[in-house]
Amino acid sequence: MTTRETAPLRARAEIDLAALRANVRTLRAHAPAAALMAVVKSDAYGHGAIPCARAAVEAGATWLGTATPEEALALRAAGLPGRIMCWLWVPGGPWREAIDADIDLGVSGLWALREVVEAAAGAGAPARVQLKADTGLGRNGCQPEDWPGLVAEALRAEAAGLVRVTGLWSHLACADEPGHPSIEAQLALFRQMVAYAERQGVRPEVRHIANSPATLTLPDSHFDLVRTGIAVYGISPSPELGVPADFGLRPVMTLAASLALVKHVPGGHGVSYGHHYVTPGATTLGLVPVGYADGIPRHASGSGPVLIGGKWRTVAGRIAMDQFVVDLGGDEPGAGAEAVLFGPGDRGEPTAEDWAKAAGTIAYEIVTRIGTRVPRVYVKVNNQQDGEANR
Ligand SMILES: *Cc1c(COP(=O)(O)O)cnc(C)c1O
Repeated sequence: MTTRETAPLRARAEIDLAALRANVRTLRAHAPAAALMAVVKSDAYGHGAIPCARAAVEAGATWLGTATPEEALALRAAGLPGRIMCWLWVPGGPWREAIDADIDLGVSGLWALREVVEAAAGAGAPARVQLKADTGLGRNGCQPEDWPGLVAEALRAEAAGLVRVTGLWSHLACADEPGHPSIEAQLALFRQMVAYAERQGVRPEVRHIANSPATLTLPDSHFDLVRTGIAVYGISPSPELGVPADFGLRPVMTLAASLALVKHVPGGHGVSYGHHYVTPGATTLGLVPVGYADGIPRHASGSGPVLIGGKWRTVAGRIAMDQFVVDLGGDEPGAGAEAVLFGPGDRGEPTAEDWAKAAGTIAYEIVTRIGTRVPRVYVKVNNQQDGEANR
């Protein structure tokens, strides 16, 4: 694997797999009675699905979760073991491929169940189906009124040997706002919908509703399995809940670039498109060779923070497609000097959360949108070096 020392890269997203493994162990300790699903959808929130999934499994995640079936199939094709679940289907999806790859299929309604049953008829084994209840999120999932019909049809398919109902599950709307009345309401409805299905004869292996914020703050939500995404990558689900260290988590991604140019300019010099920044006096400008095509949010123009030569600098003027400029205040770090956009924060660099604030969004969006033009550089790949925690 490449390390930061070897290649003079324009930009790189360094992915600390030891931090990821430690986060998984920490999350398991937060939910000791439940199994842990590492959610690795959207290329592991921008961190790289395959290496992150492997590291999560090494650290004790017994389930992997994705949104789309294509993402789940790619994990299996890469040889990842254990249970893999995906939940975002549209009609005509690759049901048969997913059944053959031994993937658990999230099913939110009758149309999906019927497509599963049809695909399972030609497969060698029953399809593993997990029925999703909408307990109040108002997004995917089966409405309470439609639940008896879905449960009944799933039980008929199970009796026919075509499916096995392995899970009953749901998703929370406001887990990142402790005390929000919807939380207790959703948990109560989830218990009712699970109890109903079990009375009808469903024997699920797993019942689950908890995402990262629920795993960290709501023990009553843990049931048999917790589905953690953002916390696996060491990011707090919300700044209101706390910083990552409050939960024993460490950010996994460090985004850095090499300055492409440092130059002297006079006062009154406009900077970048639209001249929204004008140098207040003679100064030096540094050119950071990443832009919105790399996922650096244009909304952070004039506000995004960068660590250069031990000092926080701020994006000067507009972020362009491939580059942005910072005012170095007369410093001359030189072309090639490192500019750290975000990282764990303990070497003085900003965090993804700082960028989220600067861009008026959430840290989930910051890491997830880092583009494919930025190479992911994996460090601490070998879990033998994790030390005590492994034993
Ligand atoms: C993305 C997702 C998760 C993980 O959410 P985090 O807040 O990142 O932990 C869990 N469950 C479902 C259904 C999801 O779509």
